[in-house]
Amino acid sequence: MASTGRSQPDRCPGVLSVHQAADGGLARVRLPGGVLSPEQLRVLATASAELGDGNLELTSRGNIQIRALKAPEELSDRLYDAGLLPSITHERVRNILASPLSGLDGSYAVQPLVAELDRALCASPRLAELPGRFLFTLDDGRGDLAAVGADVGVRVVGGQLALLLAGVDSGVRLAPAEAPQVMLRAAEAFLEERDGEWRLGELADGVARVLSRLGYSRSVGQMAGELAEGQPVRAGVYGPELLVATVPLGSLGPEQAAVLAEAEHLRVTPWRSVVVVGGDVDRLQQTGLVVDGESPWTRVTACAGKPGCGKALADVRRDARRVTPTLQPGRRPVHWSGCERRCGQPAGDFVDVLALTDGYSVDGSEAVTAEQSVMRMR
Ligand code: SF4
Repeated sequence: MASTGRSQPDRCPGVLSVHQAADGGLARVRLPGGVLSPEQLRVLATASAELGDGNLELTSRGNIQIRALKAPEELSDRLYDAGLLPSITHERVRNILASPLSGLDGSYAVQPLVAELDRALCASPRLAELPGRFLFTLDDGRGDLAAVGADVGVRVVGGQLALLLAGVDSGVRLAPAEAPQVMLRAAEAFLEERDGEWRLGELADGVARVLSRLGYSRSVGQMAGELAEGQPVRAGVYGPELLVATVPLGSLGPEQAAVLAEAEHLRVTPWRSVVVVGGDVDRLQQTGLVVDGESPWTRVTACAGKPGCGKALADVRRDARRVTPTLQPGRRPVHWSGCERRCGQPAGDFVDVLALTDGYSVDGSEAVTAEQSVMRMR
């Protein structure tokens, strides 16, 4: 693969590096492993009500954004006090996804490894230089994160962890105890080898170069197996105390946040949903959260669009909200974009609904109205 060295550092927003959007400041709060305590959710919801537009936006990496932010310093003080900003130097590089149901449904619990990886990441001055897009994943073996394409990841295979580099099995097998350190050494190796690239997959021969720096020969790749791709966790009730609730279009309103914060335990997923332990199904549904895995809301996402984004050609969320209830059953996710950047698009195949100056194209079609677009979303 040809190198795609970048001439600019990435500009991924954080809490301390707020992006100026058309509707004001935009702060992104990293949640390694999606972990968010009910008390921390209350802090975020109150902060958005008092300093932002009142909503919390769930991202495709399981983070939370506050839009229309008026007082960034006040926000960072509150998040620091709530334990949501444990590192000033590393906040933008704490990009760690983990299988959201890990350890809650009888599966292998990767969360202790997430915590250890996060601690060690923040303790490494060198790794503060990672691009804001560099992603770590820890997959409990079900393959739900396979489509995400981590730069450095591990996946449970048998009693070991397969080391994934640029989204593919490297052939290296690790004991759980050594996994966090090896993952961080792989990230350091990427920093040594890169020439401005943001992602390992952009670096020519990147996997082999990282393996070499880790001391593995190219022949280690012969151990690599075909790891099946699993499905994202769907909305639904998974046990007496365990459910997954989809947040329509990833926009969590104040009332929804308040009811979620009554639960015992929460994890934000990368699919605009929340794993809830000890929540009240009826109360969650009454606020508009979706627990029915067959609901059309579970397969529809949208970028910010107008008026939040200055590049948008349409208010995609308004239009998606209007027509989603009429969406026919289908398998492919649907993503609405206000322009060709397609921010927040799902991993893998999806129905591409793109705003044009005179309507929407669906998978490259001619312009149609939002209502007509629904007929093409199969
Ligand atoms: S896809 Fe375009 S319109 Fe939508 S948020 Fe990204 S830049 Fe803005």
